[in-house]
Amino acid sequence: MPTETKTGWGLIGASTIARQYMVEAIRTQKGHEVVAMMSSSAERAKAFAADHKIESAYDSLDELLANPAVQVVYISTTNELHRPQVLAAAKAGKHVLCEKPLALGVDDAVQMVRACNAAGVVMATNHHLRNAATHRKIRELIKGGAIGRPLFARVFHAVYLPPHLQGWRLDKPQAGGGVILDITVHDIDTLRFLLDAEPVEVVGIGQSAFMAKEGLEDGAMSVIRFDNGVLAQLHDAFTVKHAGHGIEIHGEAGSVIGRNVMSQRAVGEVVLRNDTGERLVPVEHEGLYVRGVATFCAALQGTGKPAATGEDGVRSLATALAVAQACRIGSLVRVPEINIQGIQ
Ligand code: NDP
Repeated sequence: MPTETKTGWGLIGASTIARQYMVEAIRTQKGHEVVAMMSSSAERAKAFAADHKIESAYDSLDELLANPAVQVVYISTTNELHRPQVLAAAKAGKHVLCEKPLALGVDDAVQMVRACNAAGVVMATNHHLRNAATHRKIRELIKGGAIGRPLFARVFHAVYLPPHLQGWRLDKPQAGGGVILDITVHDIDTLRFLLDAEPVEVVGIGQSAFMAKEGLEDGAMSVIRFDNGVLAQLHDAFTVKHAGHGIEIHGEAGSVIGRNVMSQRAVGEVVLRNDTGERLVPVEHEGLYVRGVATFCAALQGTGKPAATGEDGVRSLATALAVAQACRIGSLVRVPEINIQGIQ
């Protein structure tokens, strides 16, 4: 009997997101297996590997990358580590699924995408919300003309950071902490996806209410102008327990409203409102991370693109950094032009 060839994944980072969602998401893909794990602590690597029945555990990136059973890496370390780890993975010829924000600077992120392109490996960014059945339905409705020309968007993504995540996000600027690189970047990516448009300029004001330290924001409100004219208002926070979350896109002919849709879970509903009234639009929910991994795996086989490419990660990061800058300087900031293909 022929033996089935498996695509082996190495996990870089003993993170909560890997533990809660990604190991399982990878394992749902036929022909894919998690074969190795790496942490900066040998103890954490071993414990994670034992908990998830992963064959090899390393505390060295080079050793994980030297394992021939690893063809793909999933990087979910703190944000300042994504860049060196992606560059090392590309150099070793491994395909890369990297967490958002891709990096702490636009040039760094561009360098990461170029390195993967040059190495001929697939790179994707784990912006999960594009994979939600709700957001895909909202995009379909907008594209199908259900609300006419879109004019405004409002994103409600103010949540309460659970105690087990109240670490580096709140007190480590050098690790890319703060609500803007954590949550605003997701909103931006989602809006880019829903509107099929690119951000042009931003304004914003940050808040450091009581959780964040070291000059980081634990809340922010921003407004983004897109190249199709849409104005989007974003409210992001780590500090409020009862705000609820969702997204609204308002057009000349109607409004589409996603309730409870800025979530890691396959939940929420889509409502279409126009002159004839309001109706619930049916959606078939599926796991966001499962679908994200599935599109990445298909891209590995040469079918289609990952739900969020490396370039998407760069563009969404560039706008998030523009929001952070606008909060710092208190005036309008233009989003920089991105040239992935340009000369290095
Ligand atoms: P965690 O805080 O859970 O983990 C980040 C790193 O912290 C780990 O890689 C690990 O380092 C280290 N760490 C874990 N446990 C301990 C411990 N007990 N003591 C000291 N250090 C420890 O991060 P998240 O899972 O919340 O986020 C990881 C990445 O994923 C970030 O880039 C984040 O932005 C992104 N993310 C993306 C989401 C999405 O939906 N796309 C959702 C949540 C996060 P080591 O690996 O060296 O052990």
